[in-house]
Amino acid sequence: PKSKSEREENQKIQVSVRCRPMNSSERQGSFCVTDINGLKREVTVKERMGAQTHTKTFQFDRVFGPKSTQFEVYKEVAMPVIDEVLMGYNCTIFAYGQTGTGKTYTMEGERSGGETNWENDPEAGIIPRSMAHLFDKLEKIENCEFSVRVSMLELYNEELFDLLSAGDDPPRMRIFEDSTKKGSVVIQGLEEAVVQNKYDVYHILERGAAKRQTAATLMNASSSRSHVVFSVTIHIKENSIDGEELLKTGKLNLVDLAGSENIGRSGAVEKRAREAGNINQSLLTLGRVITALVEHAPHVPYRESKLTRLLQDSLGGRTKTSIVATISPASCNLEETLSTLDYAHRAK
Ligand code: ADP
Ligand code: MG
Repeated sequence: PKSKSEREENQKIQVSVRCRPMNSSERQGSFCVTDINGLKREVTVKERMGAQTHTKTFQFDRVFGPKSTQFEVYKEVAMPVIDEVLMGYNCTIFAYGQTGTGKTYTMEGERSGGETNWENDPEAGIIPRSMAHLFDKLEKIENCEFSVRVSMLELYNEELFDLLSAGDDPPRMRIFEDSTKKGSVVIQGLEEAVVQNKYDVYHILERGAAKRQTAATLMNASSSRSHVVFSVTIHIKENSIDGEELLKTGKLNLVDLAGSENIGRSGAVEKRAREAGNINQSLLTLGRVITALVEHAPHVPYRESKLTRLLQDSLGGRTKTSIVATISPASCNLEETLSTLDYAHRAK
């Protein structure tokens, strides 16, 4: 049996920070204000104020500098989580940060070559690498049958859009708690695709991305304001030598959150932002839910946003949560960087 402290350690939310390289527009007129110390797991931000320089240092579970590779981030952040999913846990990995700092790059990544095995592309992100690893592992378990289903949805202005449904006019989806399985969440009307291998998943991701693009154009919406939730559910049936059946269900949610500039500094909603309809209820509530979980508060406000409602069975309790906060190194983004680091640090 695990000791209490070990259990608490296991329940902690893993918080990582990834700082991308300076981009070409930042190199004109901006300078680097971040310092990443991988060994000490620290991020230091330098703020020039007149003749003085203030520095602020934050410590996290892991920090990744501009030279970190997609493989390193995947290996440190996601690989341990996949193993938990295979053991029957519900797990979630979030990418949180200002628009343009690398959330999508980290979660999904890019395709630099024409490789069929996307996971071998150096630019491949957490999703393709995780899917390849998941199927590799599943295929190696002896005396086992498994099934894998994936879904992909977008949350915009507290409305759900199914990125896998075939129709242009998606059916209204409804979230409700499954009364037969305590704490389990069901999204009625959400398309779930059965996938046989990683190639099926890659194909589905392309479909989802294309659908997101057209939907955003139709609504004249900014994708920086929407959340994308990619979920994988696995059912494993293992037959032991003495003929007993062991059933396990695990779930992995990979979430590319709306840009953090959509909530005010330190999570406080500014009056102006509220009036302009510029608050992102789900992003705000996620912060509150995480704070409540970290502080072991008696009440966790899951029900106050769509995002936290639909992830309710994968946040807190017997689940694993990991957050990757992405930041820019440039002085022009200093305010948002500090705000991201504050938010991420509160999750620890
Ligand atoms: P976000 O999803 O947070 O808005 P993106 O993932 O779209 O940001 O990244 C913005 C741009 O920066 C993209 O062109 C992406 O390729 C690049 N980028 C982001 N992170 C990195 C990184 N760690 N290394 C290299 N390029 C990156
Ligand atoms: Mg993005």
